[in-house]
Amino acid sequence: MTNFPVEKIRADFPILAELIRNKPLVYLDNAASCQKPQAVIDSIVHLYSHDYANVHRGVHTLSVRSTDKFEGARTKVKDFINAASDKEIIFVRGATEAINLVAQTYGKANLKVGDEILITAMEHHSNIVPWQMLCQQTGAVLKVAPINLQGELIYDEFEKLISDKTKLVSVVHMSNALGTINPVEKIIAASHAKDIPVLLDGAQSIPHMAVDVQALDCDFYVFSGHKLYGPSGIGVLYGKQALLEAMPPYQGGGDMIRKVTFEETEYNVLPYKFEAGTPNIADVVGLGAAIDYLNAIGMDKIAAYEAELLDYATEKARQIKGLRIIGEAEHKGAILSFVLDKIHPHDIGTMLDSLGIAIRAGHHCAMPVMDFFQVPATARASFAMYNTKEEIDVLMKGIESLIEVFG
Ligand code: PMP
Repeated sequence: MTNFPVEKIRADFPILAELIRNKPLVYLDNAASCQKPQAVIDSIVHLYSHDYANVHRGVHTLSVRSTDKFEGARTKVKDFINAASDKEIIFVRGATEAINLVAQTYGKANLKVGDEILITAMEHHSNIVPWQMLCQQTGAVLKVAPINLQGELIYDEFEKLISDKTKLVSVVHMSNALGTINPVEKIIAASHAKDIPVLLDGAQSIPHMAVDVQALDCDFYVFSGHKLYGPSGIGVLYGKQALLEAMPPYQGGGDMIRKVTFEETEYNVLPYKFEAGTPNIADVVGLGAAIDYLNAIGMDKIAAYEAELLDYATEKARQIKGLRIIGEAEHKGAILSFVLDKIHPHDIGTMLDSLGIAIRAGHHCAMPVMDFFQVPATARASFAMYNTKEEIDVLMKGIESLIEVFG
């Protein structure tokens, strides 16, 4: 293993010391949500203890302090994904709200009957349902690029589906159900060749790799704070400034206005135009703290360490008779989805819990992926920077003992 300070990192996450059913916690449900380092917890406690007031409006000291922390976190997000400007960072509740925002503003303003939105067959429901709703509202049509049995996008088929009618491409950067990392550079280049904007669902990619939205040249990138070791209830919509400027606002209310009369309203400048109402101040600050924490470690180091964890887990899983890995893409992030002969994934999840091991069992909000692989659900172990080879050994031993007893 690389010289990665995993023990030092583990010590920063208080919850990892919990005993679950009298066993040391083995937390492998990171694709659903990551645990939080003490620095993130402290940042929220500190804000509420010392600096909290509403943001933007007040002239008093606490409001200024709170605003500085809030806007400081926006700059941290901007730098973390290398956006060109703070104006391109919109705070929302999460990836789901970010996609709905784009669908209901950009989508409603630009799509009409017969226009097409192109997604892939491996999307999370939150990158399917908002587009179906938009299609119902506008008469646009949702097109789906197929995947193969490795769980990879069939790129040639994707390219064939780009047509003169395509008005938006929206694809997952890294699949939560399969771990597949999509060839987003190619997808973006092919889409831009026809002047089609591209939204990347970065909910899973953001904690696992360095993301540079300018290098990628994506038009929108969305993610949730809770999968990035930050708080839940906060997320980010990145959009290129020119696109955001041209889009109508999402919700109306305080903060998103410059001037209101009963006759008309003049909207505020970016990013506030899309942030109606009092924002989730403390969790924005917590997200900023998570980014500081990650920067101190380095995203490239995290990616390299997690690649080793995934290789190790995959190799071990392949040795288990009766275990079938779902999703064996060549380019994959730290997710191991699998099924066992004769044991339902929900039973795998419950039985592993009795050993202190937290994995997820279910359709992972990607029911079409389950249909494609003809499984009702999968068991999913998803790794984070604080997981270890030893924990993977515990998982594999646990699976083997289940097979022995129930398989
Ligand atoms: N897209 C993907 C790929 C995801 O994994 C998730 C979360 N499971 C989402 C979108 C939605 O994120 P959230 O529920 O935080 O809005």
